[in-house]
Amino acid sequence: MAEAVNIFQLMGQEQTRSTWNTLIHSGRFGHAHILAGHAGVGKDALALTIAATINCKADQNKPCGQCTACRQIQNLEYPQLHLVFALPRRSASQTDPLSGVKEGELDLINAELAKKIAWPYYHLQIDGANDIRISTIRKLRKDVYLANDPDTTRVVIILRAHRMNVEAANALLKILEEPPQGTVFLLTTEFPDRLPDTIRSRCSMHHIPDLGWELIRDDLMEKRGVDQTQAEICARMSMGDLAAAHTFAEQDNTFWLERIRATLNTLAREDFVSVHKQVLKLNDKELENDESRQQFLSLLILFFRDVALQIKPGETALWMTQVTQLNKLFPQCDSPAAIKAIERTKDALSRKVHLQLALTALFFELRKHLRGQPS
Ligand SMILES: [Zn+2]
Repeated sequence: MAEAVNIFQLMGQEQTRSTWNTLIHSGRFGHAHILAGHAGVGKDALALTIAATINCKADQNKPCGQCTACRQIQNLEYPQLHLVFALPRRSASQTDPLSGVKEGELDLINAELAKKIAWPYYHLQIDGANDIRISTIRKLRKDVYLANDPDTTRVVIILRAHRMNVEAANALLKILEEPPQGTVFLLTTEFPDRLPDTIRSRCSMHHIPDLGWELIRDDLMEKRGVDQTQAEICARMSMGDLAAAHTFAEQDNTFWLERIRATLNTLAREDFVSVHKQVLKLNDKELENDESRQQFLSLLILFFRDVALQIKPGETALWMTQVTQLNKLFPQCDSPAAIKAIERTKDALSRKVHLQLALTALFFELRKHLRGQPS
């Protein structure tokens, strides 16, 4: 019989895993932990791996990936595993997080969870799910104080824990202050600073390091059969986010390179009208969803990074021409300032600010940075 695949083999996190194994077996393993790190480095995958390591029934090499506990955790079916994440707000219920959620919507949520089960690096995309609310934590509180089988450890994983609103965070704090027996809390987040101090002081903080872009490039070539140039651009554009890199690889980067070219040509001109026109053009059609916006902006960052570092990604002629041209036209270009401005816009767009306004502000700021002027 072929050996079952062990999903708990985290890419590029050997050191992190070995640290956790030591911690788990040390007997000094606390009940609450924050796993902090950039998007796509494998924080959720690590949380599931920890849950499996604690509960695995194998004698050694935990998690084995094959015992009932391991398989149930992998499929998010383990009765003592509680996965907490943001849900759409469909009613004012304070106790039932799914109150008012229609059946069709529930199917979509389950489909998203199925993708997460198939690949724990996947970022859940649930429409209207902007925060983790008190109803979710109240529901959790009901569950975690129930009697537990002493042979198992209950594990609560809170995905993107910074999305807890104030009420939810306070409710969680109360639970952490009176920790239920045999329960471990794992909070994953890209923004640990957004968690209240009171929560952070109750948890141990662990930093999960970035994945190298070469690792991501190789993964894209191996798993998707993407050619090297495309894999390299996607990997570097993802800035260490494995899931984003895979999304980028599904799309045609040539299309986006053309958009970057058009945008930079516009920014190179002096008149304000063409900048405005370019914003409208992008706003109307091309940046219609979150993914395309993030991709466009990531590519723009990569572009300025390459201008700054004079790196040649693969052999993409269009790209190189553009980098060379920009260097020639704008020898004073302040790339680090441009990159910071784009990163701020990326973050703002993920928090649903007005696209047209954000792009207009960004483009006018970039015009200054191209010319090396202070903003
Ligand atoms: Zn196992």
